[in-house]
Amino acid sequence: MPKTSRDLSPDEYGEPVYYCKTCHSLAVLVDDESTDEDWDGSYCGNCGSTDIDVCKIGDWMKEEERRERKRKEIEWSKL
Ligand SMILES: [Zn+2]
Repeated sequence: MPKTSRDLSPDEYGEPVYYCKTCHSLAVLVDDESTDEDWDGSYCGNCGSTDIDVCKIGDWMKEEERRERKRKEIEWSKL
């Protein structure tokens, strides 16, 4: 069983993570050579978006679980 947001201790839950606001991926990369005043160089390694935000890992997992349920609902509705 993979860990869910409910299995996290409060300390684990509050751990900050960077994620992509476009596709919700945690595959955030940093391009050190292209940084400027408005951009710290971080971008999504999955979709290439530079819309990166930081949140608690527990909140990220909750959102991921919500999206996973949604994906399953869509799959079931096709049956
Ligand atoms: Zn992305």
